[in-house]
Amino acid sequence: QGGSSNYDVSFKILLIGDSAVGKSSLLLTFISNSLLQDTSPTIGVDFKIKLLTVGGKKLKLTVWDTAGQERFRTLTSSYYRGAQGIILVYDVTKRETFTNLSDVWAKEVDLFSTNQNCVKMLVGNKVDIESERAVSREEGISLANEHGCLFLECSAKTRENVEQCFKELALKIMEVP
Ligand code: GDP
Repeated sequence: QGGSSNYDVSFKILLIGDSAVGKSSLLLTFISNSLLQDTSPTIGVDFKIKLLTVGGKKLKLTVWDTAGQERFRTLTSSYYRGAQGIILVYDVTKRETFTNLSDVWAKEVDLFSTNQNCVKMLVGNKVDIESERAVSREEGISLANEHGCLFLECSAKTRENVEQCFKELALKIMEVP
């Protein structure tokens, strides 16, 4: 590794949300350039690093995935420590994954995220299965406003808006004083 000259700033970003909403898939789609293959639920990638240029700055993003631990409710403050950005993911075809975000995950984020300036983004994944949609775009926007989050709908399968999610979040983090 060539040291710090590889990038200008480094951010820690977390993926949060119910099991099987597509957190690992979003991360893999973002990291790799190939289309998503069908995976077994939660591949468990832990974290991945991606260098990208946003707003003229070279960024190093370290994106953390829960590696399935969310199923056992064992996410702790150490997972959240030092995070500048949190992506809260739900599955637009599974309503309970959306309600769990406000009932469970948003509370945990408030509890454990010690960084007051942490930027949050709400992401509705799997929009490619439009026929099975169970949460409207308007409901997503409304929940995002309620919790002061950015908002995007995306698909890890078709790659729609995936890079956007990370770029918009990074741009917003860079605005934090
Ligand atoms: P995680 O448990 O939240 O990390 O979810 P995974 O990434 O393991 O995904 C769970 C399942 O949903 C897998 O079978 C994926 O292939 C599938 N999946 C993930 N993202 C999408 C998507 O955008 N569209 C579709 N159709 N399937 C997806």
